[in-house]
Amino acid sequence: DLAGGIVAGAAISILAGLFLAERALVPIRRSWEKQQRFVADASHELRTPTSIIQARTELLLHYPERSIEQESPHIAVILQENKRMGKLIADLLTLARSDSNQIQIQASEVALDSLIVEVADQFRFLAENKSVEIETNVQRPLTFRGDEARLRQLLVILLDNAFKYTPFSGRIEITGESRSHSVYLSVADTGCGIPKEDLPHVFERFYRGDKARSRAQGGTGLGLSIAKWIVEAHHGTIRIRSEVGLGTKAEVSLPRAHERQYPALAGRFAG
Ligand code: ADP
Repeated sequence: DLAGGIVAGAAISILAGLFLAERALVPIRRSWEKQQRFVADASHELRTPTSIIQARTELLLHYPERSIEQESPHIAVILQENKRMGKLIADLLTLARSDSNQIQIQASEVALDSLIVEVADQFRFLAENKSVEIETNVQRPLTFRGDEARLRQLLVILLDNAFKYTPFSGRIEITGESRSHSVYLSVADTGCGIPKEDLPHVFERFYRGDKARSRAQGGTGLGLSIAKWIVEAHHGTIRIRSEVGLGTKAEVSLPRAHERQYPALAGRFAG
C-alpha cells in the first residue's frame, strides 16, 4: 500500500510537472509562432516587388532595339518597386530590432512644437499637388523628453497615412498640447475612413484594410505597428477612431511620468 501510494504520488507529481512545463512553454510557443508568421509574411511581401522587377527587366532585355523613351514606363515601374522594397526592408529591420530589444529609447528634451511644424512642412509640398490642406494646431512651447528620431518617425507615419488615404481637396489637422500628466498629439484627416471590421486589426503587422488602395499608395502594412511600438516604448497609448467616408483620427498620449527614466541621448543609436 505504501509503495502504491508512493508510485501514485510520484505519478501525480510528474503529471503536475508536465502540466506546468507545458503551460510555461505556451508563451514561448506563441512567440515562436509569431516570429514564424512574421518571416513568412515578410518573404511574401518581398516576393511581389522582386517578381515585378524581374518581369520588367526581362521585358527590357527582350526588346533591345527599343529607345529609352519607349522603355521608360517599364523603368519607372522598376524604380517604384525598388523604392517600395527599400521601404519594406527598412520597416522590417525596425520591427525585427524592436522585437529583439536592440533599440533603446535615447532621450533628450524634444521641442515637439517645432518637430510637428517641421514634419508638416515636409508634407506640404506633396499636399499642395493634391490640394490637400494641412493645418497645425500646436501649443507653444511643447516639449517632451523622449527619443526625437522615433517621435519624428511616429509623426511621419501618422501624417503619411492621413495623406495617403485622403483624396483630392481634403484636410489634415495635426494638434499637439500639454495636458496635466501627458502630452496629447493627434492627426485627423477627412479621408476614406476605416471600416468597423478593419479597425481592431490596423495595428497588426502587414494588415492592410484595402490591399489594393494601400499598395497603390506605397503602403507596406507595417506603419501603424511601428507607430504603436514607438508609442509603447514611451509608455504611451495610441488609438484610432474612424468613420467610413468621413475620416480618421489617430490620437497619441505620452505620459510625463516616465520622461526621466530613459537613458540620456549618448553613444550608440541602434535604430
Ligand atoms: P499601410 O502601409 O497599408 O498604410 P498601416 O499599418 O500604416 O499600413 O495601416 C494599416 C491599415 O490601416 C491601412 O492599410 C489602411 O487600411 C488603414 N489606415 C491607416 N491609417 C488610415 C487613415 N488615415 N485613413 C484610412 N485608412 C487608414
